[in-house]
Amino acid sequence: MIATVIVSMLCFQLLCFGGLFLLIGARLQSKKMGMDAFATGSFLLGVAYLLQLLEGPGWSFTSVVNHTLTLCVPAAYWVGGIRFFGRPVSLWRPLFGLALAYTMLQLVVQWFGGTAARYALLSGMSALAFLAMAVTVGYGVKTFAKDLRVEMTLFALVIGGLCVFNTVKFLNLLAGGLPALDMDRGFQMAFYIYMSFLGTVMAPSIIWLILRRLTDELRATAAHDPLTQLLNRRGLVDGLEAHFRSRTAGPAHLLMLDIDHFKRINDAHGHKAGDAALRAVADMVRGALRQGDLACRAGGEEFVVVLFDADTQGAWGVAERLRVAIENHAVPRDGALDPLRCTVTIGVSLPFSTAEGLDIALQQADAALYRGKAGGRNRVENATADTDSALATSLPEGSAAVA
Ligand code: GH3
Ligand code: MG
Ligand code: MG
Repeated sequence: MIATVIVSMLCFQLLCFGGLFLLIGARLQSKKMGMDAFATGSFLLGVAYLLQLLEGPGWSFTSVVNHTLTLCVPAAYWVGGIRFFGRPVSLWRPLFGLALAYTMLQLVVQWFGGTAARYALLSGMSALAFLAMAVTVGYGVKTFAKDLRVEMTLFALVIGGLCVFNTVKFLNLLAGGLPALDMDRGFQMAFYIYMSFLGTVMAPSIIWLILRRLTDELRATAAHDPLTQLLNRRGLVDGLEAHFRSRTAGPAHLLMLDIDHFKRINDAHGHKAGDAALRAVADMVRGALRQGDLACRAGGEEFVVVLFDADTQGAWGVAERLRVAIENHAVPRDGALDPLRCTVTIGVSLPFSTAEGLDIALQQADAALYRGKAGGRNRVENATADTDSALATSLPEGSAAVA
């Protein structure tokens, strides 16, 4: 009786969560993050439990359908998980294939081994499916799901539990036949309590994963420039603060880079060509940096680079190499034979050691950049302690070129 109540509640929960996953998937529009597959898995399991309540164990058409649906559940959840991590895998075709193949297999086993053997088949196959899922999730902890290590480890444990329960059920069926499925037996009760625990925690856990992914993406979008995918000013400040929180962090140098006569590029070749030039310069800036350095599009055709663990000589060297590389780079243009070329002028700040030093460093680099422009463009200018530093401290706050 208690087991029947537990299974009824579980069934209701699964159908509700299936609906919830569908609604979330619809809100996510094209990027559903596996929600449609998770919904399918929940509906299939909900219907399978409903059939079980209606029928009880034994040989019948609904029991065959029930077993087929039950085995399709881990497959649907597996597809949902893979889709959540951005791999496109199809759901319906493999699911129909599995359903058809497993229905045939059931009929063969029923014919030769009887009902108990068919139930043992389901437990054995489910144990294998959950083992495969637990291994996939465990592999994900080390590879494609590193950012969700804690969550994935818990999932692997919970799925491993399902594998253990199904293995024991398989052995019970082999040893005791159909009476082992009596819903009020201790093991079956423990099995349904575990399932209802899963039914309760799985859906909120999946919703938590979605929430984490969305907020991480939102944070990344808020910190990056959409045209070049470099950091924006906000991302630069966050990156600097994170760097300088470390006790061992050394001083940094800031480069301010401005494309020369960019307005002419726009005027002569159009805004689209201008955008292509911006993306090309951004790619070269990205390619010139070491791991951990920061690159930001500060607005318009201005870029800011922060180099860590480099002395003034080294910072100047990086800036000069970048300048030469950009000067020699040909930017291909859509529908035009002749590529675009551009040059940059770069100002290099004095070293600074705190995130609060950013504004002064920006002003120093801006002043050096201004000298470079006045001196003929396509050059690198270092800030000098006596002029640019004094200028930087005397400039009103916010007058640096960064938006
Ligand atoms: P200078 O050598 O003195 O730096 O001259 P400049 O022409 O590069 O500088 P100016 O500030 O006069 O012009 C910058 C131009 O950049 C003007 C603006 O239309 C263009 N611009 C700003 N943002 C974008 C963008 O996102 N895409 C494109 N294509 N152009 C942009
Ligand atoms: Mg400018
Ligand atoms: Mg410019």
